[in-house]
Amino acid sequence: MLQKFDVIIVGAGSFGMSTGYQLAKRGVSVLLIDAHDPPHSYGSHHGTTRIVRGAYTMGESYVKLALRSIELWKKLEREAAEVPGTLGHDHATLYDPIGVISIGPRGSRFIRSKTESCIAFGIPYEALNAQQIQERWPGFSVPSHMEGLYEPEGGILYSEQIIASYRALAVHYGAKLLPNTKVLQLVSEAGEPLVVTERGSFTAGSVLVSAGAWSARVLPELHNIIKPYRKPIAWFKAPKERYGRGRLPAFIFNNGGAEEYFGFPALDESGLKIGRHDGGYPALPGQPVPPFGAYEEDEAELRHALNLFLPEAGELLAGQTCLYENAPGEEFIIDELPGRSRVWFAGGGSGHGFKFASGIGEALSVAMLKGKEHYPLDWDAFTLKGVNL
Ligand SMILES: Cc1cc2nc3c(=O)[nH]c(=O)nc-3n(C[C@H](O)[C@H](O)[C@H](O)COP(=O)(O)OP(=O)(O)OC[C@H]3O[C@@H](n4cnc5c(N)ncnc54)[C@H](O)[C@@H]3O)c2cc1C
Repeated sequence: MLQKFDVIIVGAGSFGMSTGYQLAKRGVSVLLIDAHDPPHSYGSHHGTTRIVRGAYTMGESYVKLALRSIELWKKLEREAAEVPGTLGHDHATLYDPIGVISIGPRGSRFIRSKTESCIAFGIPYEALNAQQIQERWPGFSVPSHMEGLYEPEGGILYSEQIIASYRALAVHYGAKLLPNTKVLQLVSEAGEPLVVTERGSFTAGSVLVSAGAWSARVLPELHNIIKPYRKPIAWFKAPKERYGRGRLPAFIFNNGGAEEYFGFPALDESGLKIGRHDGGYPALPGQPVPPFGAYEEDEAELRHALNLFLPEAGELLAGQTCLYENAPGEEFIIDELPGRSRVWFAGGGSGHGFKFASGIGEALSVAMLKGKEHYPLDWDAFTLKGVNL
């Protein structure tokens, strides 16, 4: 006799673990299945930190979801602190509002559209010219043709610690977790979804696939939609008085066009972290992702950005690779899949999805149980149909 759950979640990473926590808290029987033991470093959520902010270039739907997500991050931090064993010893803080500055060419869409969303949604911000940025944070070097938008309530999410907290809370509320178990196939049997894994099969009232970069291996119809990309990130030695905690906010540099970098001050001895948002190599299914340093440009591109914007950064301390799960136009998909019975998909985080994971989990937990009309998300902005192929 097959074991049956109200909901099965395939991929218990950022979106999946958040949704599993929300469902378990609502008293639903949930099975979370993951190919690894989350949090882990084989998907899109490792590397300790993620930027969180409210201002967005992608329209109102994203801004509203980002703002709701920030409320939920604060709530998660409070809740996790109350449930024994939930927070690890590294970071009692999950959301760390150290501020975020976006720096880009003066008058560019990159700055303009973020400013417009701050005005429209009452998000606190400061518009700063190059000289003002350097006066406030002398560690930055900002070309005079650039300007900045500073969001004091933006900052850091400790992504791995968050997933560990969601995991502990989900289990605390009764969710079952099956780690180190790959889902091989998702089929329909007698009108119900059947999840076939390496360790047996399970049925459910409904299924969420949130398998990140490798989602198309579970849902082949997403093959041309979700594309995994290898992204190098690295930590560099940095003088604490210029680049330490309290001396810099989190930062995003747009160097014109698509060229974009992101990073964090040196929060501890691990150094200043930086990564590049655009570009990268596709990651190939079934093949190991080449480690940091496999390509000369892994360090060279990041060093180029440091030379431009953070010239006092020193030697390379460590590097990693992480996976982007790119969707067309970097747009998320949060939808019930057409052509399948009671199968939902959340993905296409495209290198900027983590900050929304709390909101996505809340939205899905309501929609999967009661229908989309019961949760105030602009669902049409996140449908598979709307993806611009
Ligand atoms: C370098 C880097 C920097 C980023 N910076 C930011 C940032 O600053 N701000 C921001 O908001 N976002 C950022 N992002 C994006 C964000 O981290 C991702 O959008 C988000 O983590 C995606 O969540 P996910 O649930 O889709 O994937 P994941 O968290 O990777 O979860 C997917 C899970 O599915 C599991 N899985 C896969 N296949 C199977 C299978 N067959 N069976 C069972 N389980 C399976 C995996 O093991 C994994 O645990 C960044 C991403 C990277 C890589």
